[in-house]
Amino acid sequence: MQYNIGDIVQMKKKHPCGSFEWEVLRVGADFRIKCTKCGRLVMLSRLDFEKSVKKVIKSNLCNNNKE
Ligand SMILES: [Zn+2]
Repeated sequence: MQYNIGDIVQMKKKHPCGSFEWEVLRVGADFRIKCTKCGRLVMLSRLDFEKSVKKVIKSNLCNNNKE
C-alpha cells in the first residue's frame, strides 16, 4: 500500500476526541499524522502506522511523483 502526504486515512481505533480520520503529513520510515478533528500530531513508525490504518478515505496521489 502506497501512502502519500495529504492522504486522509481512517484508523481502527478512535482518537479520544472522537475522530477516526487523520491526515498524513509525512511518509517514510516514520509517519507523522494529524487528527483532522482536534489537530493532534502523532509520530509513529511505518509498521505501526500500517497496523493502525483501516482504510484510506481520500488519496492525494495527484500531488506526488510516482515512484
Ligand atoms: Zn483527535
